[in-house]
Amino acid sequence: MLVLEQLKFFAKTDRIALVNREETLSYRELDARSNAFAAWLLNTFGADRSPVVICGDKETDLLCCLFGALKSGRAYVPIDSVVPEGRAGQIIGDVKPRVVVDFTGRVPDCGAVVLSPADLAPLLGGSAAPISRQYWVGDAGPAYILFTSGSTGRPKGVPITAGNLDAFCRGLLPYYPADGGVVLHQVSYSFDVSGCAVYAGISRGMTLFTVDHAMTGNLQELFAALGESGLTLWVSTPSFGELCAQSRGFSQELLPRLRQFLFCGEVLPHTLCDTLAERFPAARILNTYGPTEATVLVTADEITEEMRRDSRTIPIGRAIDGVTLQLERDGAEVTGEEQPGELLILGPTVGPGYFGRPDLTEKAFFTDPTTGLRGYRTGDLCYQRNGLYYYCGRADNQLKLNGYRIELEDVEENLQKLPNIRRAAVVPVRDGDGKVQYLAAFLLLREEDGLTPLKRAIALKKQAAAYLPAYMIPRKMTAVESFPLNVNGKIDRKALAASLEGTP
Ligand code: AMP
Repeated sequence: MLVLEQLKFFAKTDRIALVNREETLSYRELDARSNAFAAWLLNTFGADRSPVVICGDKETDLLCCLFGALKSGRAYVPIDSVVPEGRAGQIIGDVKPRVVVDFTGRVPDCGAVVLSPADLAPLLGGSAAPISRQYWVGDAGPAYILFTSGSTGRPKGVPITAGNLDAFCRGLLPYYPADGGVVLHQVSYSFDVSGCAVYAGISRGMTLFTVDHAMTGNLQELFAALGESGLTLWVSTPSFGELCAQSRGFSQELLPRLRQFLFCGEVLPHTLCDTLAERFPAARILNTYGPTEATVLVTADEITEEMRRDSRTIPIGRAIDGVTLQLERDGAEVTGEEQPGELLILGPTVGPGYFGRPDLTEKAFFTDPTTGLRGYRTGDLCYQRNGLYYYCGRADNQLKLNGYRIELEDVEENLQKLPNIRRAAVVPVRDGDGKVQYLAAFLLLREEDGLTPLKRAIALKKQAAAYLPAYMIPRKMTAVESFPLNVNGKIDRKALAASLEGTP
């Protein structure tokens, strides 16, 4: 696996792999500590290759455990500390790990060995010989399983292999600086865009500059830290870029060494590109696109001034090396320019399918009979012009809110678990540019609760936090006596969304 080879290589240098608010971790230490964890896994569990679940935020040792799992031939399953216990429990129940590394102190009894930071300290500090390649995750073996929002109300697992990640690195690294630098490590491990730092960044011997949840929530602290960071490469969702750009202080003076922004995960607005181009004259802006199922990103391109001036949306880029893109409508390939169709991704970054869900895998994944390439139907509508792709929206109820991938049905199913909710319909509320601002839920109650709308909404949000992470909890909760229906007899979501127009 490329990243493990490179880690081994840079461990012979004095480079720094990770910086966070408390400490720095050298490549040498990362290599040694991950060897120690791998050796412990191999000694304790032998040939058993069950995935290792890792719950936390951006702790130093989390990275060591992650690479340790890979060196021992095991996949890891990251669960962010913001995921509520019930949802984390579902994921752990599906994965059935033998080991859970828990930086949150919230992992319930699950029949696995649960390692706290105190348990880890002596374990990672022990000396271990380098782990021979024969134990590493092989090309076709899963390296991680990410759980994303699923339309049935249960998170769905997406395994990605070491071969997929190598192909992703080969495709992305030509866009990276030739050697070293400092990359922003803000994106959660549960979201695959973190791979731009963890896999591509480590493969280039870069330093991961860590921004944890507490820093993300405190702009003053964040800016103070960024000012000391020496950052050369910015990686984030456009939403996080926008949050920072709201402050005038977000400029080249704050980040004098910054040479590139890399955005991924959701629509990149013109306004953000214009602001950044003005405030960061020495940095170029890269837009990229990709679903978790095809390993982080499959398109990329630099956003030029001409693209910024163009009235079209900002393009998502061209296929990265090794990736083939196709557009399809009504079962036929769309070859003409500017003709929209569903985007199909083919090539070595496409993962094997969904974890334990052959039914879902069969619907979305395929193997092309003529080329033998693995393919994935994205559900994204796009068109292309001169090989440059433009995104025009989804064909289903999946959406992005502040960079988070959400299936509306997932929110509805979980709201229906609350004792007094019989049926829930959730709609996105968008701004004039079509960007989702927040979610609104319309609810049929089982029985009258005697509460005012405000008190009811507060109580329901509190209950919903047991099942849903904060970003999935609708901002508005409105009790209704019935749902409007469309001509097909389905809940008329457009009418529900329209009923909110003009409300703050
Ligand atoms: P995720 O699996 O969380 O990375 O979400 C993948 C989905 O996010 C894609 O299928 C798109 O709908 C959306 N997405 C990702 N990148 C972009 C982008 N650059 N522009 C617009 N939508 C994007």
